[in-house]
Amino acid sequence: MTEIREYPKMKDIYGSLVFDQREMKQRLPRDVFDSLVAAMEGRQKLDSSIADTVALAMKDWAVSKGADHWAHWFHPLTELTAEKHTAFLMADENGNPLNSFRGKDLMQSEPDASSFPSGGTRSTFEARGYSAWDPTSPAFIIKSKKGGTLCIPSIFIAYDGSPLDMKTYLLRAMQAIETRSMRMLKLFGNRGVRYVHATVGGEQEFFLLDRPRAQKRPDIRFCGRTLVGSPPPRDQKMEDHYFGAIPTRVLSYMEDVQRDLARLGVDLATRHNENARCQFEFAPQFTEANLACDQNQLVMETMRKMAREHELRLLFHEKPFNGMNGSGKHINFSLEDSEGRNLLKPSTNHRKNVIFLAFLSSFILGTAEHFGLLQASVSTPGNMYRLGGQEAPPNIICVYLGDAIASMLRAVEEGTDDGTMKPSRGTLDLGLSKLPDIVAFDSDRNRTSPIAFTGNKFEFRAPGASQAMAIPVMALLTVWAAGMEKFLGFFEEEINAGLDPVDAAIKTIRKVAAMSRNIRFEGNAYSANWHEEAERRGLLKAKTIPEGIDLFVEPSTIKMLEEMKVFSKKEIEAFHTIKLEQFVKSIEIEMSVLRDMVWEGILPALSKQMLLEKSSRDAVAGYDALSLEKWDGIIVRLAAAKLDLIAKTEELAKLREEMSRMTTRAHAEAIVKRAVPLMLEIRKIADSVEIFFSAENMPYPNYRNLLSLSA
Ligand code: ADP
Ligand code: MG
Repeated sequence: MTEIREYPKMKDIYGSLVFDQREMKQRLPRDVFDSLVAAMEGRQKLDSSIADTVALAMKDWAVSKGADHWAHWFHPLTELTAEKHTAFLMADENGNPLNSFRGKDLMQSEPDASSFPSGGTRSTFEARGYSAWDPTSPAFIIKSKKGGTLCIPSIFIAYDGSPLDMKTYLLRAMQAIETRSMRMLKLFGNRGVRYVHATVGGEQEFFLLDRPRAQKRPDIRFCGRTLVGSPPPRDQKMEDHYFGAIPTRVLSYMEDVQRDLARLGVDLATRHNENARCQFEFAPQFTEANLACDQNQLVMETMRKMAREHELRLLFHEKPFNGMNGSGKHINFSLEDSEGRNLLKPSTNHRKNVIFLAFLSSFILGTAEHFGLLQASVSTPGNMYRLGGQEAPPNIICVYLGDAIASMLRAVEEGTDDGTMKPSRGTLDLGLSKLPDIVAFDSDRNRTSPIAFTGNKFEFRAPGASQAMAIPVMALLTVWAAGMEKFLGFFEEEINAGLDPVDAAIKTIRKVAAMSRNIRFEGNAYSANWHEEAERRGLLKAKTIPEGIDLFVEPSTIKMLEEMKVFSKKEIEAFHTIKLEQFVKSIEIEMSVLRDMVWEGILPALSKQMLLEKSSRDAVAGYDALSLEKWDGIIVRLAAAKLDLIAKTEELAKLREEMSRMTTRAHAEAIVKRAVPLMLEIRKIADSVEIFFSAENMPYPNYRNLLSLSA
């Protein structure tokens, strides 16, 4: 019988390692607490005179939980997080030990910025930057074997003021959407609302492999994905895996991850098997956008650490396996006001439903006009292999609304514009009483669309599993803010012309619905027709990842980003450079790992296999002329593959050499046009002989071995 040990209950440990409002209230004087909460809700700037008091309380709390270091925790532009640990302990003037953490330590810190990407905004000699506390995300403790670190969520900026992290841009985008949402609600006469927050919940997909086996493959070790190998023909569909029982080994891992994250106040509400073999998903309870992005980083970090303890290899790569589903990070998002109302929730109440439609159509309008930014935000190396195949949405942005909402919008659009709005009201009211049910029912059917309305929120399905959420969320919120700005312009005009808010809104919704027809698509986004149709609609601005990255610096996008005060021209240009560099570096690593795997493993294995076949051939020589020919055939086939592999990998090495002299942009282009196809050719040759290897000659664990979780 398996031993069932007693573990602490989630409820008892939830948030125990977070310096949350409960903890603050207990440890801070009332006025300090109030002013901190106001800063946390984004209502006022942080008052630096309270910093010492807050720091003291935070330190006492952290030390009581076993922390011995503190660090500013921030998101450089590398998709990972960074921190520099400083000990609390120091000696006072008499040489006595003392725990120290001052207000200025809390507010600001100075990590060496020179090793983080800046896209050429700074030269190394002025590579100084500082991190500054972001009070809107609470501090937390990361436990280690012998102690722990108090982590202070921070932004990271250079001394010239340019951001060196993703969070600054995210916070600016949140500001852009939240202030406009307030304006919108005020126009509807809603004056009691104190603030509006963006809410986000990111579903995290991942693969788990047996670590010892996975680590035998250099491609998994260094690239997080397989560069050779393919699924055995009849193994592709393992339907029983999807929503089937989670393997015991994985469940035990998941439980440990969930427990550690619960302590950090992260609630992983659901866990399940995903479509492919060895693929799984965690979905957290959604929360305020900034916190959700921080929490997703914590989820990923915790998962990585825990995988090692369970002898598992965790893969966040967007496309670890050829011919199988890849991993995405579906970003669900909406807006919520200070009364807890979800602004994307349809309603049977006419006025409330018009407010809902105003927010909804603002997003659609923003997307119709600035979809380039959304595509840019998901143009990552991993998505190059993932988008457009095996259940991942294609690399073309469109919005799916579902029958209920699509026909509702159509009704508004078709309503006659006589200024009184009565006919459209009539149409609108029709069927509203059944609305919430219908919406929930038909919202999730279309899984081919990159953006779908799913009942009371939008879901962006294009982001990749390994991406930090900050940039796609920034893009979504900025695009929404831009759409809302335009909406508000029309809306205010109508109100100034004397219409009441609801009629003015309906008129505006009708107007912007007509302006954003292009981006709405209710059909199957996988069909070949859609490609042609999208081309006709002008939605196919970028066909490759580098072209997608270029959409960050489309003139209209730069203009919009500046208007929304999210990026300056200089900042987005630097950001664009960093993204191109990251793309190039990531695929360059793949090129060299593939070359090495061929020469270190596959070519020698082919020689050994040929010798084995030759001994079979020699064994029959003199007995059976006919089978002799067959043996020769096999040997020749292996030899031909070997020669091909040598030729193609030499070509690959030459190409690398040639590319190293190119500009980053030309380099990225050459990767897409030449290196990737060449790598695919190499893979094809390697895969064509894989089935000939005997077990002991197999250079690397094959897919069947790799995708089995039994130890
Ligand atoms: P589904 O499985 O149909 O995609 P779920 O209800 O399971 O939908 O939600 C998926 C994710 O969406 C979860 O992380 C959830 O917390 C998040 N979510 C739900 N409502 C909202 C919302 N209003 N804003 C942001 N995220 C949300
Ligand atoms: Mg979902």
